[in-house]
Order: sequence, then structure tokens, then C-alpha cells
Amino acid sequence: MEDKITCNHCHKSTTPRLWHIKGNFFTRKKIQHICPFCGQTMYESGGGVGAGIILSGLAILYFSFMIFSQESNHENAKLNELQQKVAHQQNELNKYKDLYLSLLEKTKDGKSPHLKKQVNAAQTRVEKLKKRLDEAQLEFERLSREIKNNN
Ligand SMILES: [Zn+2]
Repeated sequence: MEDKITCNHCHKSTTPRLWHIKGNFFTRKKIQHICPFCGQTMYESGGGVGAGIILSGLAILYFSFMIFSQESNHENAKLNELQQKVAHQQNELNKYKDLYLSLLEKTKDGKSPHLKKQVNAAQTRVEKLKKRLDEAQLEFERLSREIKNNN
């Protein structure tokens, strides 16, 4: 049994009747304590925001976070890929540069037309690789800037 309390409306001391109000998606279950004399609500217990609302809020937060992190994962993967491409092309370039220099060394005397041809081919290859490396580096820098601006 509840203790007797004084009603704020009719000022009688009484034991309130309980009126249960079922909760739903939006609100939690609450109990109205009603004065048996004047029928006014003396006070309420329970109530508040429903679990459904809280769960939807959490779900929305979770999914926005997932979308955001997926997007930045995707960007980072792309950036890594580009970084590897740059490193690979740098390697290739160095290899051909070495080849070119060693061929150049061998043709110093100018007596071998066959070697000279190879030198020219290596030089062309080095220039092409240099161009591709520049392009990859530019793309890498552009993407880095883009990601920085997004964050
Ligand atoms: Zn009352």
C-alpha cells in the first residue's frame, strides 16, 4: 500500500489510484497517480523518451559513422594505391637510369653503333617513365589535398 499523500488540487490526504499508461515507440511506460476525490493527477512516475527513439537515434549515428568511415577507407585505399604506383615508377625509372648510364659508359669511345642504338632506346624509356612518374605524383598530391579538404 502506498502512503497517504496530500493532493495539490483538493488538499485532501489520500492514497492515489494508479493509472498505467502503456509505453510505445515514442514514450516509456508511465504511471499517473490520481486523486480519488477530485480526479486530478497528483503526480506521474516513469515516462520519458521511448527506447525506440533512442535506438533509432543510435542506429542513425552508427550508420552515418559507417558511411563516413567507409568513405575515408576508400579514399585511403586509393591513396595507398597511388603511393605504391609512384614508388613502383620511381623504381623503374631508377633501373632504366642505371641502364642508360652504364650503356653510355660503354659507348664512350663511339665505336659501336649497335650500343648507341640501345643508349638512345634507354634514354627514350627513361624520359617516358619520368613523365609517367610526374603524372602519378601529381595525381597523388591532388588526392591528398582533396582528402585533407574533406576532413
Ligand atoms: Zn484531489
